[in-house]
Amino acid sequence: MPLRRNRRTPEQRRKVALQHEGWAHGELRPLDIRSGDTVVVIAGKDKGKRGRVERTIPEEQRIVVAGVNVLKRHTKAGVRGNMQGGIVDFNGPIAYSNVMLVCNRCEKPTRISKQRLDDGTHIMVCKNCGERYERGAV
Ligand SMILES: [Zn+2]
Repeated sequence: MPLRRNRRTPEQRRKVALQHEGWAHGELRPLDIRSGDTVVVIAGKDKGKRGRVERTIPEEQRIVVAGVNVLKRHTKAGVRGNMQGGIVDFNGPIAYSNVMLVCNRCEKPTRISKQRLDDGTHIMVCKNCGERYERGAV
């Protein structure tokens, strides 16, 4: 049996992977973006594209956006109920840092600030237009 030098726990490995992607200290930031939100891509090969968030992967700080980072997967016929085989398009995850949330009121890419109301509830406010950002409200 060869000696295993890299005895990292899964937790450490995850942190190191995040550090390699430029996340300071490998700390996870909570994602402001949820599935259903509209985002615009600000970096990478799909720069400038807009799309709807299909899925978020907080533990990897990545999100899946419809129509962005379209990859092709070559599948063999007969695998996992896939009778035809061939090339399947799918949306690959992209880094959370490469997108900006699009405000559903002013339609512009923006940053969101969180504010706490007197009654203790938290709201999200668009830094561009100052309007309250509400999911599913518009
Ligand atoms: Zn706005």
